Amino acid sequence: MRQEESEAIVLHHLDYKDADRIVSFFSLEQGLLKGFAHNARKSRKRFGSALELFAYVHLRWSGRTSGDLVSLQDAELIDLHSGVRRDVGALALASYGCELVEALTAEAQPCSEIFHLLRAFLGHLSKAGLSLEARLLFELRLLSQLGYAPHFVHCSSCNFPLDSDEVAFSAANGGGLCLECAPAALPLRVSAMTLGTLGRSLQAPVTLFEGFRFSERTLQEAGGILQDILRQHLVRPLKSQPFMEQMLAGKARVKAIR
Ligand SMILES: [Zn+2]
Repeated sequence: MRQEESEAIVLHHLDYKDADRIVSFFSLEQGLLKGFAHNARKSRKRFGSALELFAYVHLRWSGRTSGDLVSLQDAELIDLHSGVRRDVGALALASYGCELVEALTAEAQPCSEIFHLLRAFLGHLSKAGLSLEARLLFELRLLSQLGYAPHFVHCSSCNFPLDSDEVAFSAANGGGLCLECAPAALPLRVSAMTLGTLGRSLQAPVTLFEGFRFSERTLQEAGGILQDILRQHLVRPLKSQPFMEQMLAGKARVKAIR
C-alpha cells in the first residue's frame, strides 16, 4: 500500500476502544483527512503526544483502508501549541477554528494557504490568547481561500462603488449593496468603511495576525457580516461556537471595565 507523509495539524480526535484513536487532520499535502491510529494511546514510540488537539506534526500514513479512514503509521511532534492549553479563551477560539476548517473543507482537497493560515492562527493564539481581531481575520481568510469572499468594494447588484457612509450587506445577494439596490427588508446595515477594512485585511499575508487593531464599530459590524457569510456555507451550527462567543463576550466586558 502506498505510503504518504506530510506536515499536518490535528483538528479533532476521538478515542476508540481501549487504545485506538480516530484523528481528523489538515495536511499540507492533501488537505483534510481522517485517520485511524491503531494502539495510539499505548504506543508512545509511534505517536507520543503528537495526536493531541492543535498539534503541528509530521505524519506518515498508508492509503485508505476501510471507509474513509487512512491508516496512521507514526507521527513526530513539531509544535504542540501548548500556550493554547494554558488559556481557556485561546482554547475556545482554537477549537472553533479547527471545527470551522473541518466543517468547510472537503476531504483530500489540498490547499497550502489554509494549512499555513491554520498553523499561524494556532501559533498566534498560543502566544497572544484570544481576540476578536484574530477570530475575524481567521474567518475572513478561510472564507476567501475557499472562494467565498463577497463583494466589499462595489455594489453586488449595480457595481457602483460603495462609498456612502451606510450601505447594506447580504451574503445571499453577493455581499455589499448600495442602499438603492438593497431590499428594504434587509436587516444588515454597515458602514462602507467596515467593508473597506475587510477588503484591505485580505491583502495582508494569511499568516500575519500581529498588529491589527479594529475599532469597536468595525469589530461589531464585521462580526455580523462574517456570520451572515458563514450561515450560507455551514450545514449545521458549530458545537464550539457558543462557548467561544461566551469567552469573547467576557473579554470584551473586562476591557470595558478597564
Ligand atoms: Zn447598487
